[in-house]
Amino acid sequence: MQKNPASTASALNPQPTPPLPTARSALLARLAQPTQYDLAVIGGGATGLGIALDAASRGFSVVLLESEDFAKGTSSRSTKLVHGGVRYLAQGNISLVHEALHERATSLRNAPHLAQPLAFLMPCYKYWEIPFFGAGLIMYDALAGKRGLGHTKFLGARQTQDTLGNIRAEGLKGSVQYWDGQFDDARLSIALARTAAQHGALLLNYCKVTELIHVDGKVAGLHAEDRETGQHVEVKARCVINATGVWVDAIRQLEQQNTDRKINDIIAPSQGVHIVVDKKFLPGDRAIIVPHTTDGRVLFAVPWLGKVIIGTTDTPRHDLSREPDPFKEELDFILNESARYLKLAPTRADVLSIWVGLRPLVKPAEDSGLNTKKISREHTVLISPGKLVTVTGGKWTTYRAMAHDALQHCFTAGLLPERTPSKTENLPLVGAQQHQDVAHPMSQAPGLAAYGDEAATVNALPGAEHQLGGGLTEAMVRFAGRYEYARHVEDVLARRSRLLFLDAKLAESLAATVGAILQEETGLDPEIEAFEALAKHYQQLPQ
Ligand SMILES: Cc1cc2nc3c(=O)[nH]c(=O)nc-3n(C[C@H](O)[C@H](O)[C@H](O)COP(=O)(O)OP(=O)(O)OC[C@H]3O[C@@H](n4cnc5c(N)ncnc54)[C@H](O)[C@@H]3O)c2cc1C
Repeated sequence: MQKNPASTASALNPQPTPPLPTARSALLARLAQPTQYDLAVIGGGATGLGIALDAASRGFSVVLLESEDFAKGTSSRSTKLVHGGVRYLAQGNISLVHEALHERATSLRNAPHLAQPLAFLMPCYKYWEIPFFGAGLIMYDALAGKRGLGHTKFLGARQTQDTLGNIRAEGLKGSVQYWDGQFDDARLSIALARTAAQHGALLLNYCKVTELIHVDGKVAGLHAEDRETGQHVEVKARCVINATGVWVDAIRQLEQQNTDRKINDIIAPSQGVHIVVDKKFLPGDRAIIVPHTTDGRVLFAVPWLGKVIIGTTDTPRHDLSREPDPFKEELDFILNESARYLKLAPTRADVLSIWVGLRPLVKPAEDSGLNTKKISREHTVLISPGKLVTVTGGKWTTYRAMAHDALQHCFTAGLLPERTPSKTENLPLVGAQQHQDVAHPMSQAPGLAAYGDEAATVNALPGAEHQLGGGLTEAMVRFAGRYEYARHVEDVLARRSRLLFLDAKLAESLAATVGAILQEETGLDPEIEAFEALAKHYQQLPQ
């Protein structure tokens, strides 16, 4: 039986805080003031945003700068699982699984409109697989303890077919069902940004950090460029954290002027590809996990926002493109593996969108030539001789634990005074500040449910009844421009709504309409043609 983890913490706060406007001119005016910040965070993905929220809620003055849009990097391209990681359990990494299960429960509690439980079926075609996988998953339940989302159970072949609707029946012996979580990664990023802003942090997208300021050999701030006006910005801060994911080395290299030692790269990026197909390929509300594909990796088919995500791959990459291309072998792998398990298997013609994310994998210390300190096998925090703090690796699910750990390093290094303990464990994110019923599963088509307790505020804006397509209304576009930092059509169609990821052709067809509405809100060129080109890229299959 699934337990509903809907927010109880939020019951403490009966009214949602009115949304804070994100008018850029006001944000830039604030940034221009000669303030000495406690903390400057570089990078607005899960890691940087988690740090900004943790620090701001402890009372530190915080500025966060993101060179593109929030979550434009890896943090909008995940498999959308908020999970303990059954793969790590198989590797015997119990402490990591334990931490991730704790964080899973925290996200589901603090953002129930954006992170929800999801049942996974592991189909078994050999009898031994059922007790083998079952035993591991019962242990997973045990590790979750009171934070469990539902009990592992065994399903016979018939029941597996009935539940999944489109599973290959020949040779099917049954399946093991267990519970984990799924989420909307980009919207959770925006919720983190907005919650940090409510706690006083100043966050700005489209503001690229170009240089570090050193005083007496120590990092004391940064220079950045407002990408909309080209204007130069200077920020003074006691502590600077580099949370730029796969791009951390470029920021680390900015320290070169401050040291005569060579700064070696620490990141070995690896790309993961997902495809999105119609719901008919997985008609129920359960996900499928294949624990051992032909290349040994886990493959997921996940019902998400009315479509099905299938992925992912793991291919080393040497470049750090903002929009990496998928390789033909990766698409072939996903389609071939799907055909091994799905009765009606998707073909190239069924792909609605294909997208790529880069994992920030950290090389072992001996390769990097640096005295790196590995906090866990999952994420790395290192402090340079000039006191630049770099944090990378890990996974979305554990962003809060990573933030906590990064700040702990800042305290230990004397970069920030240790203040009150972290408050984020029981801190409802925007949209979750009123108790709410999670009646709308994330597996179903998108809509107002993603706004949680702000749904009424969205609907009070002009155009609430004006459906644009794919669950998006005119009012949602206005809300994105006024309160969610959206500047361009891409911000709305890729990350405030997820249409680019769900159905790139539909997203392309909405670009002009969305652009016109957004322009009314921001007064800015919404970059419609640039988005149309990007949407074509997400429809383009590798040959
Ligand atoms: C294919 C794939 C699937 C995954 N699936 C899952 C999953 O299901 N569940 C899970 O828990 N984890 C998952 N992960 C891991 C998770 O997505 C990442 O660990 C996480 O998103 C990394 O966040 P980040 O903030 O460190 O990096 P990013 O999200 O990449 O953020 C870094 C930001 O820094 C910005 N930046 C770079 N240079 C500058 C500069 N000079 N100035 C200002 N800003 C700058 C970038 O624009 C970027 O937005 C997956 C990863 C991949 C690749």
